[in-house]
Amino acid sequence: MKAFEYSRANSAGQAVDALGNGGKYLAGGTNLLDLMKLHIETPEQLVDLNRAGMDEITETEEGGLKIGALVRNTDLAAHPRVRQDYAVLSRAILAGASGQIRNRATTAGNLLQRTRCPYFYDTNLPCNKREPGTGCGAIDGYNRPLAVIGTSEHCIAQYPGDMAVALRVLDAEIHTLRPDGSERTISITDFHLLPGDTPHIETALEPGELITAVTLPAPLGGQHFYHKARDRQSYAFALVSVAAVVQADGTARVAFGGVAPKPWRVEAAEERWNEGAQAVTDTAFEGARPTDQNAFKLDLARRVVQTVMDAAQVQGGAA
Ligand SMILES: Cc1cc2nc3c(=O)[nH]c(=O)nc-3n(C[C@H](O)[C@H](O)[C@H](O)COP(=O)(O)OP(=O)(O)OC[C@H]3O[C@@H](n4cnc5c(N)ncnc54)[C@H](O)[C@@H]3O)c2cc1C
Ligand code: SF4
Repeated sequence: MKAFEYSRANSAGQAVDALGNGGKYLAGGTNLLDLMKLHIETPEQLVDLNRAGMDEITETEEGGLKIGALVRNTDLAAHPRVRQDYAVLSRAILAGASGQIRNRATTAGNLLQRTRCPYFYDTNLPCNKREPGTGCGAIDGYNRPLAVIGTSEHCIAQYPGDMAVALRVLDAEIHTLRPDGSERTISITDFHLLPGDTPHIETALEPGELITAVTLPAPLGGQHFYHKARDRQSYAFALVSVAAVVQADGTARVAFGGVAPKPWRVEAAEERWNEGAQAVTDTAFEGARPTDQNAFKLDLARRVVQTVMDAAQVQGGAA
């Protein structure tokens, strides 16, 4: 691991003040430290957030929840209000990683985890995301796990996380503190970016901008689902995942994970929920550009949506 300076911040303000050019915030470290060991991330400075607060879940005046950036994934998934009113979030988190990792991983760190494209992790191979302008080993290489939509000629990596897919159907907002002391709010819709010709720029965050919290609006009601199709039943990233909130009147919100460089939600596809899974995925994946190796994800997505629809009917009938 390359040498770096280390400091601890006792507040959000101290953290942004302490971060210099080329520095990184350290939360749970479960992604960042792995990348540093591989020399993929080489920050000159780490500012440890673990004593900076931002670790509580509180009610908002609008009846929603404010989740501090440092809230651990385990605590968020287990929170009574989350289990009761935002079950899609609880289920998405529990579908990811392992108990040990979730005990360390934080809300902000989870949102910012980086792709699992195998070429990104191998510093001997070209990768525009790791090293802009070097090319992409995956497009003509092994790309089975990668994205089928939202890609560009420069990068076809998928966003790997589960939690953000649930946050997308919940219309979460991300709150930040900039180095100049100003605050802003970014909708989860706009937070993760498509690769275009700058695949190394993955989010709307500016250099040094700190995530302080994520807020959820008032509960949506309805039935909440998170179904994740993967190669192994545990400890594996999604090939395709579906987060859905289904209402008794047959309307639904649905977002997909594992298929795009960001959580993938298409409102026009939701409007076809009553027409069945094929109609939903036809619209959600219109314009998809799968490879020979990952075209199976389109059929898999349809089948996972069908599973959610079947479960919603069973639960709806039983209610
Ligand atoms: C073996 C393994 C399996 C996994 N499986 C899954 C899975 O199935 N599904 C899934 O979703 N995830 C999975 N993960 C990923 C895991 O969820 C992430 O590593 C974790 O959520 C990252 O959170 P962290 O707090 O440890 O982030 P860190 O590693 O500390 O940080 C990640 C990034 O976020 C930045 N950062 C952290 N906090 C802030 C902040 N407040 N403001 C601005 N920047 C910040 C850091 O600088 C860094 O760039 C897996 C991880 C491992 C190691
Ligand atoms: S798909 Fe993206 S992350 Fe993977 S090798 Fe190509 S540029 Fe790198």
